[in-house]
Amino acid sequence: MKQVLFPATLEALFGLLAELPESPIMAGGTDLLVALRAAGRENRPLIALERLEEFSVIAAQPDGGVSIGPCVPFSRIMTHPLLAGRYSILTQAAGTVGGPAIRNMATLGGNIATASPAGDSLPPLYLLAAVLEISAAGGFRMLPIDRFICGPRTTLLQPGEVIRRILLPPPGAWDLQWFEKVGKRQSLAIAVASLAAMIRLEGDCVADVRLAWGSVGPTVLRCPTAEQVLIGRPLSEESLAIAADAVRETVRPIDDLRASAAYRRTVAGNLLMRLSD
Ligand SMILES: Cc1cc2nc3c(=O)[nH]c(=O)nc-3n(C[C@H](O)[C@H](O)[C@H](O)COP(=O)(O)OP(=O)(O)OC[C@H]3O[C@@H](n4cnc5c(N)ncnc54)[C@H](O)[C@@H]3O)c2cc1C
Repeated sequence: MKQVLFPATLEALFGLLAELPESPIMAGGTDLLVALRAAGRENRPLIALERLEEFSVIAAQPDGGVSIGPCVPFSRIMTHPLLAGRYSILTQAAGTVGGPAIRNMATLGGNIATASPAGDSLPPLYLLAAVLEISAAGGFRMLPIDRFICGPRTTLLQPGEVIRRILLPPPGAWDLQWFEKVGKRQSLAIAVASLAAMIRLEGDCVADVRLAWGSVGPTVLRCPTAEQVLIGRPLSEESLAIAADAVRETVRPIDDLRASAAYRRTVAGNLLMRLSD
């Protein structure tokens, strides 16, 4: 039978991480248990985070931002009043993760630590300039998410460290926050490509824009050229088509079971075109 340990304090957590360095940390387990089974490593004790109360808290910050505990599941992110509206890009993405049962278990911290190119929370977190508080027995460090994630399923997390909080700065005034993903099915689909977009308009023209794509490169992909193309222009089919060409040149998708690289490249541009709808 699998042994699962449930530390309820940070001190107990860091004690277990030191004592059992080979034991994985578990939040909702939706990625971890699949990975352990595939690797035939199911017999190690697991260190579950669910009894650490502060890991499940969403709280307002003095700077007007929000902090999110790593064990907050996507079902709570979708509906939390501190996130609704102001951080709607994240709540929209949360609503596309798996189905309702997965969203009740799958956590934001697990999605970040897994660092899959298809992780649905990641494009929004890049655009929101999320910062991670990484804690260890000896102290903590703060890392912007785009530095924390180094490649597919690769992060700067060191043994003995844990993501303790995800900090979102005040989001700023955006007229449009938009997240869309294309998968092979309507529900329970991992993204073939996704787009997160935040746009501020002055009159009919784009005054500021942030764009990020998922599943079309080793990590979340930003395309400054496409952003520059749109600034000062209306969100018309014409300007979006120029920006979409820039994106298709920038992305570095792979062929896999879910889609070909060529299809992903096309979809990355097409997702941008949908902003004119
Ligand atoms: C049927 C199914 C459908 C899915 N659909 C989607 C989808 O549509 N979109 C999507 O993005 N993902 C999807 N996933 C993947 C998965 O549900 C998500 O990545 C989820 O957010 C992982 O969170 P978790 O709490 O389950 O993490 P776990 O499985 O518990 O952990 C994942 C990894 O993160 C580490 N970890 C967890 N918490 C911390 C922490 N606080 N500090 C440091 N490391 C930590 C663990 O050690 C492990 O390596 C799906 C999975 C399944 C099984």
